[in-house]
Amino acid sequence: MRVRFQISISKSHLTSTRVPLHSSAMGDFLEFQDISKHFGSTRAVDHVSFGVKKGEFFSLLGPSGCGKTTLLRLLAGFEQPDSGRLILDGEDITALPPHKRPVNTVFQNYALFPHLTVRENIAFGPRVAKWPRSKIDDAVAGLLKLTQMEEKADRKPHQISGGQKQRVAIARALINKPRVLLLDEPLAALDLKLRQHMLLELDLIHDEVGITFLYVTHDQTEAMSLSDRIAVMNNGHVEQIGAPAEIYETPVSGFVAAFIGDTNFLDGRVLRIDEEDPNYCLIEVAGLPEFVCYNDKQKKPGDLVHLSIRPEKFHISNEAPKSRSGSKNAFRAKVEDVIYMGTLTKYWIRIQNHRLAISQPHGRFLLDEKPPRWGDEVWIWFHADDGYMLDRFNPSEADQAAEVETAGRPESRV
Ligand code: ATP
Repeated sequence: MRVRFQISISKSHLTSTRVPLHSSAMGDFLEFQDISKHFGSTRAVDHVSFGVKKGEFFSLLGPSGCGKTTLLRLLAGFEQPDSGRLILDGEDITALPPHKRPVNTVFQNYALFPHLTVRENIAFGPRVAKWPRSKIDDAVAGLLKLTQMEEKADRKPHQISGGQKQRVAIARALINKPRVLLLDEPLAALDLKLRQHMLLELDLIHDEVGITFLYVTHDQTEAMSLSDRIAVMNNGHVEQIGAPAEIYETPVSGFVAAFIGDTNFLDGRVLRIDEEDPNYCLIEVAGLPEFVCYNDKQKKPGDLVHLSIRPEKFHISNEAPKSRSGSKNAFRAKVEDVIYMGTLTKYWIRIQNHRLAISQPHGRFLLDEKPPRWGDEVWIWFHADDGYMLDRFNPSEADQAAEVETAGRPESRV
């Protein structure tokens, strides 16, 4: 049987590795073993277990309050777990005080000393630890170069920009040569342009220093663009761990599908296995003609299915699809909303009780394209491989995960 997602895409090596990227006990440099943490009656972290590889850029991603900062603080030693163990390079560090742990944290608010220059801020830790002068000078010079702060080395924090302050904070954390660098929403205080720039900088710094990075963010774009792997968290537990493409293309739950990008959910039932190809099945969804879907969960006739279909997987046209594969999953629909966004147009279309979000990239918009307009009766279609069957679906969690894209949700389910 064909396996839908065999290729594990790592940020730095866009190659087919066929190595499963799910955490395994073997080869994990950092391990969270069955960690739980309560604050009074609040369950902040709930039996969380996963591993991080040496040198990996690993992100904890999830909505506010899902427990990601608590996990980071547990690793830094600022909090103690109620149960579970933290293992770093084979050593149990659960009981070590923060200053004995080989980790350093970069905070969102930089936490620089205002009366010290950039150079003195970076050198602060080694000075307290009484490193020899020449060793401090060499290390500071290397980090000023790495973070491109050589020209601003003698300025005080109030004389540099937010992005530059964040670079100093990173340099200051790296000078101690931590075995894991913890980054707690480090870009959250920066404006959009600076954030995009700092994403590239962080990526370069990570590649240069080769240290394991554990990065906390609620911003999916940051996590997707920086990470080798992402743990998507929800309500104190980990929903899914995987490479960015794995999480986007093959989300395990409605929560993950809705939190990472936009999606449409269709709830239905398997009618029968496709006679032409038993890897596919025919699905019945109330209000839609029956359609074909790749059956990678090996569902049987009568089984319930929850499908996630990304807006960009649909085609939309005033004309019927010409290809045979397209014609299998083609529906008549009415355009309810259109937003032209430059590189793409977003459509919201209606088929009976379903309101679906569709996005279409543009090629030669002015010359060639005759896009559907508001109120048009159109055809929409998607390939049978592009509806992904979710393992779990909880409507309220999926709605909670979808930020403002509620317009993309069908209004009723089977
Ligand atoms: P955010 O993105 O908003 O920082 P988060 O995912 O990092 O959220 P945590 O800060 O880990 O979430 O918080 C998880 C839960 O634990 C939340 O409900 C939070 O209110 C609670 N919590 C965290 N720290 C404490 C504390 N010191 N005392 C009481 N409750 C806390």
